[in-house]
Amino acid sequence: MTGTVATRSVLARAERVAEEVLFPAALKTDATGVLPPSHLDRLADEGFYGLFGPREFGGLEVDPAVGCRVVETLASGCLATAFVWLQHHGAVKAVAASENPGVREQWLGPLCRGARRAGTVNAALRPGPAAVRARPVAGGYILDGEVAWVTGWGHVDTLFTAARDEQDTVIWALLDAEESATLTIKRLELVALNASYTANVCLSGHFVPAERMTGTLPFADWPARDAAGLRMNGSLALGVADRCRRLMDPGPLTEEVAACRARLDEADATDLPNARAAASELAVRAATTLIVSSGAPSVLLSEHGQRLLREAAVLLVFGSRRAIRDELLRRMKSR
Ligand SMILES: Cc1cc2nc3c(=O)[nH]c(=O)nc-3n(C[C@H](O)[C@H](O)[C@H](O)COP(=O)(O)OP(=O)(O)OC[C@H]3O[C@@H](n4cnc5c(N)ncnc54)[C@H](O)[C@@H]3O)c2cc1C
Repeated sequence: MTGTVATRSVLARAERVAEEVLFPAALKTDATGVLPPSHLDRLADEGFYGLFGPREFGGLEVDPAVGCRVVETLASGCLATAFVWLQHHGAVKAVAASENPGVREQWLGPLCRGARRAGTVNAALRPGPAAVRARPVAGGYILDGEVAWVTGWGHVDTLFTAARDEQDTVIWALLDAEESATLTIKRLELVALNASYTANVCLSGHFVPAERMTGTLPFADWPARDAAGLRMNGSLALGVADRCRRLMDPGPLTEEVAACRARLDEADATDLPNARAAASELAVRAATTLIVSSGAPSVLLSEHGQRLLREAAVLLVFGSRRAIRDELLRRMKSR
């Protein structure tokens, strides 16, 4: 999407959903740990499941910077909702780029419409031994492994899953998100974002047919691709910081959020970890400032300050990388 009017319309719709639907329910969603399915249905109705999908398959195909602004806006409304929805886009992008015959045709339309909704299983992409291993068998692969973090259980029907074979090639495949004898889950209790229903997933001899594969990549080539893709999670932290700004006399926070966003937008792969760390730190500082400026009532469960501070804490470690963590620690120790 390149037209200014179309871009404005997407951003205006995101703002409306955030203000009219997500934010009014954010405290209840946080307190109950239950994400209303209607939140995600509304995002599907707005076409946001196809935010990065090609137009020929019903996607909005927005520019990356516009997409990040939508993520930030929705995160400022309700981080749990945005968090679950955000996991979906890796599957859309992988399917759009897939050269496996039939995959685009079968999956892209339903994924862009949100008729199919995906979570992400990335643990095999971490350095060291693969958390999920893939063994070739007739007609597909057998997957084995245990994955600590999979967000959105119960809200997704598809798991966009990475695994590594014996040659250390990454295989990405679309699994059904259904408990079975070979796929079991255990819910994790989180300090915030509990409504995201993040779970531990265990794959034990789980078969995935070859036609569910989206692509492969030598694992040695993954770090470069990963480094270039770190931008978007920074928008979650910006969303938290921006909500804090809106809830108080913002002072210099208005300029700081804008500067942090500009730095993320302009960063190359080398500067992205620092820009991500800056965004995470800003979210924590903004939430702390909101709490201090609002006084004692801000620690009541009925107030947003405590929710936003807990959410900012989760964003200090979610989607982190060694360079992001090192930069965050450097910033915190040097104060
Ligand atoms: C609340 C919550 C929900 C999460 N939901 C999901 C989810 O739905 N799906 C999912 O896949 N993960 C999910 N994660 C995991 C997350 O994406 C990161 O892997 C994790 O936050 C990094 O944690 P860590 O700093 O403890 O590093 P570790 O997990 O101990 O990883 C060690 C190192 O591996 C590197 N690393 C981690 N992930 C990758 C990667 N993908 N590519 C390359 N290098 C990597 C980092 O440099 C890190 O320092 C979730 C995490 C949290 C806290």
